[in-house]
This record gives sequence, C-alpha cells and structure tokens, in this order.
Amino acid sequence: MAGTTPHETTISGRRVRATRAESPPDDAAPIAELRDEATGCRRCPLWRNATQTVFGEGPEDAEVIFVGEQPGDQEDRAGKPFVGPAGRMLNATLEDADVDRRKVYVTNAVKHFKFEPRGKRRIHSKPNAGEVQACRWWLDKEIGRIRPRLAVALGSTAAQSLIGRAVPVLKRRGEVIERNDGLRVFITIHPSLILRMREEEDKEAERERFLKDMRKVKQLMAG
Ligand code: SF4
Repeated sequence: MAGTTPHETTISGRRVRATRAESPPDDAAPIAELRDEATGCRRCPLWRNATQTVFGEGPEDAEVIFVGEQPGDQEDRAGKPFVGPAGRMLNATLEDADVDRRKVYVTNAVKHFKFEPRGKRRIHSKPNAGEVQACRWWLDKEIGRIRPRLAVALGSTAAQSLIGRAVPVLKRRGEVIERNDGLRVFITIHPSLILRMREEEDKEAERERFLKDMRKVKQLMAG
C-alpha cells in the first residue's frame, strides 16, 4: 500500500487484560473539535463528490471502537455513520449479543462516501490504499482521544487501516491482532457482506456467525 505502515503488529490469540491510560494525552483534541476540523478535510479527492464528511459517533470514553469501511448512501445524506441497512444489521446484532451501546464508538476508515453514479443511483466503490492511508489521519486521532480497550475491524478496509497492512479477513476472522501500541484489534466481516448474500439460508448462517463474533467482542470488552 502507499506510504508507510506505522503499526507493526504481533499476532495474539490469547486473551490479554486490556489497559489504557486513564485519560487521553493533553494534545488529544476532543471528538467534537476533530469532527469540526474534518468537515473541511481535503487530504484526498473523495470530498469532491460526497455530500459531507461523516465522522465517528459515540462516547469519548468508549471501551470499544467499531471501524467500518466508509459511509454509504444513507450515511452520506444523513451525515451520521451506520444509519443505513448495514448499520441497522450491526445494531441489531449488538443488541442480540448484549453489547452495551453506551460503551461503543462507531466510525469508518474513510470518512467520505466513494461511489460511481449509475443513473439516479450511487453505487458504492471501494476506497483505494492511498485514500485509506490519507484518512487514517482521522482514525488515529479518534483512537488517540478515545483510548479504547479494543478495536473491531469490520472488513478488510478497516483492518488495513487499523493494522497498517492488508489482512485476509475471512482467514483471520475471530482473531485478535495486537498492535505495538497495545491496542487489540478484533477481526471480523463488514455486516454489508451478509446483506449482499442472495440465499436466505446463507444469510441466516452468516448472521449467526456474525452474532458469535459479537459475543466474542463482548467477552473481550470484559477481559
Ligand atoms: S476521505 Fe478522509 S482523507 Fe479523504 S477528504 Fe474525506 S476526510 Fe479527508
């Protein structure tokens, strides 16, 4: 990928008690300030066609940060992350897994919607490595402020941004990768994968696996 990979990692399947500083460092800007700054971001070309920057949301003392790929059509219009179909799937699964949403911050690796126009529709287009690298600036700042005990990478773009290199998500799903800064990153799929499945049976099986992953997340939050 373009640029450097700042997060060297060690692989860890073991459970490690998570630690974090009691409070963010003095130079870590509050989330509201970062959100304001990001409205004018021009670090990559994706701002040109999108409606607005879609920054993360959740408590500043969240224990876990969920990272998706990028805002979708509905998120782009609303200016809020995870309010579209994939977000509803995530919310429902977190509820089923009994994950306390008051401890969760949700965001995306890339904060502008990348799409191809097709008639009146806007079709999702995967951000490239340079765009992910450019937008990591904001993800790093969110993590620096929140200091979560755990990050959840929803899909390959999120994993690439959090870990600093490509991660084969389907192969590494359910694993925890520990970064050199101590942040544990749990690897799973993006919920949009479930929505794209055609057969109801496959969809149901995949949803069960995703629920299992979210139950693991709950355990890791406690651990
Ligand atoms: S996608 Fe990220 S880096 Fe690119 S312009 Fe938007 S906020 Fe900035």
